[in-house]
Amino acid sequence: MHATVQRIFWTAPVMALGNFLGALGFLLSEEPLVAVEQLWRELVIQANLFVSATSLGIWLVAWRLKKKPVGSKSQPVFAYFVVTYVLTVGLAISLIDNLVMTSIIPFLLCVTIVGTFCYLPPRGAVLVFGLSLVVFGFAFGSLLTLPAHILDSILVNGMMAHALGLALSTVGWRHFRSSKLQEKTIAQQQAALTEMAYQDSLTGLPNRRFLDELVEREVALVRRGRTQSCLIMCDIDNFKAVNDTFGHVAGDKMLRAFADLLRGMTRNSNTVVRLGGEEFVILAPQTSPQEAMVLAERLRKIVEEHGFEVNDNILRITASFGVARLEGSEREQDYYHRADQALYQAKFTGKNRVVMTQGKVG
Ligand code: GH3
Ligand code: MG
Ligand code: MG
Repeated sequence: MHATVQRIFWTAPVMALGNFLGALGFLLSEEPLVAVEQLWRELVIQANLFVSATSLGIWLVAWRLKKKPVGSKSQPVFAYFVVTYVLTVGLAISLIDNLVMTSIIPFLLCVTIVGTFCYLPPRGAVLVFGLSLVVFGFAFGSLLTLPAHILDSILVNGMMAHALGLALSTVGWRHFRSSKLQEKTIAQQQAALTEMAYQDSLTGLPNRRFLDELVEREVALVRRGRTQSCLIMCDIDNFKAVNDTFGHVAGDKMLRAFADLLRGMTRNSNTVVRLGGEEFVILAPQTSPQEAMVLAERLRKIVEEHGFEVNDNILRITASFGVARLEGSEREQDYYHRADQALYQAKFTGKNRVVMTQGKVG
């Protein structure tokens, strides 16, 4: 219905202008001599001016309603009102035309407009065109001036016009639905691909690519002196032995549990990333080096005390941590270089410890 309101918004001014020009055309035309033709001309001018003015009103309402979110209740009410209005106008002008000619062209035009521009769900379309057919038959049937064979012809044409409206509406609706579904599927696939591109498939943590982009933004903030941030690098100690003893599958399970542990123990503002293998990085924004050291030490202790379930065994492991402050001068290729050096120091000096770029704790 949101799409229908948008289409009404674009169609209404065209209708307003078209009907206004129609009325003008009739006004400038030569006045007929026969009384019934004069009445017809008068009524057609009035009807066109009325439709022109109401179309402007509809345009304004559509302009307001199209800003409302998809699914708002007023949109379907408005759409059905406009559909009823357009069909009624078509019927009224056709009835006026029958003062001087046998034609339902205005009604046929209005049916085509509704069928083409309004997306009605199938049930709604059946209801609209069904009711319209009844009203159409009743209106023309009560015109006592029409000879029986002309009335029959009009009623048959009216039925065909309604069938055409229903067919156009159904085709339009199906096409609209399938293109919307396609759009939705493409959007979902794109979201999934984006997620995959930024996610480590084993642990579900963000990956190196994600960290690259995040650090780039963080470094810019640090450079402008807006904040201080730290990187904590973490590497599981002797992980190869876990793989060698329990197998690669058990190693994978342990990596997942380790990732969950880090994620669960850090603040939401901190981003835990799997860099690759058994190496992880924590980006801690708005964190001083001292606070980062405290966090890393807390994580080291938690890892040390945690029992990892591997093949029905409870296994204890340790991890080493390297902490570095972001200076604001880091480049994309080496932003974790100093944290890596600190981690190397932690490994070199006995593992299961936290080392900052200069200094040592743990
Ligand atoms: P250190 O204390 O010096 O870090 O020793 P380490 O054994 O942890 O480090 P090393 O670099 O010698 O070995 C890392 C091991 O991690 C080797 C590799 O098989 C394993 N590994 C890397 N990626 C994965 C993975 O995705 N799954 C599993 N199960 N193992 C992995
Ligand atoms: Mg290791
Ligand atoms: Mg390693």
